[in-house]
Amino acid sequence: MSPHASGQRGLPEHRPDPLPIDVVDNHVHLDITREGDEPFDVADAIKAARAVGVTRLVQVGCDLDGIRFTMEAIEAHDELVGGIALHPNEVPRLAAAGQLDTAYAEVERCATHERIRVIGETGLDYFRTGPEGVPVQQDGFRWHIDLAKRLGKALQIHDRDAHADVLRILEEEGAPEHTVLHCFSGDLAMARECAERGYYLSFAGTVTFKNARDLRDALTAIPLDRILVETDAPYLAPVPHRGATNASFLVPVTVRAMAAVLNLDVPTLCRAVSENSERVYGPWGSERVGQTA
Ligand SMILES: [Zn+2]
Repeated sequence: MSPHASGQRGLPEHRPDPLPIDVVDNHVHLDITREGDEPFDVADAIKAARAVGVTRLVQVGCDLDGIRFTMEAIEAHDELVGGIALHPNEVPRLAAAGQLDTAYAEVERCATHERIRVIGETGLDYFRTGPEGVPVQQDGFRWHIDLAKRLGKALQIHDRDAHADVLRILEEEGAPEHTVLHCFSGDLAMARECAERGYYLSFAGTVTFKNARDLRDALTAIPLDRILVETDAPYLAPVPHRGATNASFLVPVTVRAMAAVLNLDVPTLCRAVSENSERVYGPWGSERVGQTA
């Protein structure tokens, strides 16, 4: 099948031109392999990303297996810092199985690690979880917000079809100093509200989708010092690879599309994304990891 055919599976063969200034993939799931794919070895994924200027990644583990994977990966690779949480769809499942408290204890224990820099992804998902799961999901979101604040870590939010409740609960609880809406999916009005509150918005490949005009409008409404970029790999590959398996080496495709929307030169956007990421998560802190030139 042609690498550009829609509905393609697997990683695209194509490698984008390297970015002029190194950036951070703010949200990737190196532990997840899409059905039918060969696993992408972590070292290979990092190497391919580095080759195009994506030198630092935030690895996100959001179930107990993913958390275990993340703890090992951040010890093994200087290019990674970690995010851990129980995903909003995972919280009701664990609660129903009577395992939520044990799972919370495990998240809390792991989250104290110096290279775990963010609690996430947490939040609300009204798409996959039905109304019966909402109260426990909201409690779970509040628990993660509190944990981030107690440990002085950033917060990454998953918000699917739950914009109003996400904003309300953040307001009620008081958001951590560094709060990121991962894979932002709101519109212009929501972006303005988030900007007013000082939240960061992380844009994924969805910002390149043809039907995502609202998202591109939202991008233009927030200050440059609040913009982040991510893959959410293996999901959400940017156009022209939509439908393929995503990976951090495709970040340049999304960055260039965002720069065009913002009418900014690419180095300026790269520099902003790099600085914003280190402001939120702290420095990656290794000589081996390329920093902003
Ligand atoms: Zn994710």
